[in-house]
Amino acid sequence: NLKQLVADQLPRYVRVNTVKTTVDDVVDYLKRDGLTYLGQASRIDDLTLKEKEFLRDMHLQELLVFSPKTDFHDHFLYKAGHIILQDKASCLPAYLLNPPPGSHVIDACAAPGNKSSHLAAIMKNKGRLFAFDLDAKRLTTMSTLLLRAGVTCQQLANQDFLKVDPEDPQYKDVEYMLLDPSCSGSGMVCLQHDDSSDNQERVEARLASLASFQLKCLNHGLSFPRLKRLVYSTCSIHRQENEEVVAACLKQNPGFRLVSLLPRWPERGLEPLTQCLRASTQKTRTQGFFVALFEKHNNAGTKVE
Ligand code: SAM
Repeated sequence: NLKQLVADQLPRYVRVNTVKTTVDDVVDYLKRDGLTYLGQASRIDDLTLKEKEFLRDMHLQELLVFSPKTDFHDHFLYKAGHIILQDKASCLPAYLLNPPPGSHVIDACAAPGNKSSHLAAIMKNKGRLFAFDLDAKRLTTMSTLLLRAGVTCQQLANQDFLKVDPEDPQYKDVEYMLLDPSCSGSGMVCLQHDDSSDNQERVEARLASLASFQLKCLNHGLSFPRLKRLVYSTCSIHRQENEEVVAACLKQNPGFRLVSLLPRWPERGLEPLTQCLRASTQKTRTQGFFVALFEKHNNAGTKVE
């Protein structure tokens, strides 16, 4: 099928897990392993690679890029937790949130945990990472993933994020939040379910129900008393789950504004929300994705430090 064909042509991305190693060490290891290192990419077209070639991404410093057929699942570096197999677009939320070491952070819908492990790496494993998920099985997978990645700053909870009390004293210092809630997954090119043949009414109803859940999560997230920054992401290409949710949220939370993200990123949120980013197979050589970053402002309209 067409989606599989597109998926087969996407570059493979590998995030170097800086909790355990460095980009230079991984590059050296792979060169000794017989791969050809081409240095750092400078434009999207560079990401089209031949077998055995690899390079460093131009947007994300800790990301390496390989040809579509590369498979690291049995590789030593993967099994040892030195590398994480993660699409480039899904590395954006933690990178853009950028919580400093020592900060208190919530990952609201966290399993299976790739973005949590990325947050922990950015925090240099220092501070507290509260991670919630409703699905116990996915949380078990997440514990394994974080253990392999050497992450120790997390506190996992099998809990409905919407029922987490923002006034609970243990969250009083939470200033950063990553919210990556359940979505239609319409941006995932390798996903089995393809809603293009579904009944239009059913698709619309499903999107409306997802969007209402996503907005509830956003409003709840922004209600944590010390919150400064919240990054919202989906792997959906539907405006209903992306720009429309963000616009509704901004209306209901006048104390927050959008941060204008990565000026050089080639694909923006749909008008008028061009501060946000989109990603797609055609324009960014990734899965379909959406990211928005909310930042708190005080009454004078300046950002809260
Ligand atoms: N951020 C994850 C990662 O990068 O590995 C992927 C998250 S996935 C898109 C959405 C997750 O939200 C699912 O694991 C699902 O179980 C969880 N979820 C759905 N509703 C939830 C709720 N009310 N509270 C907490 N987690 C929820």
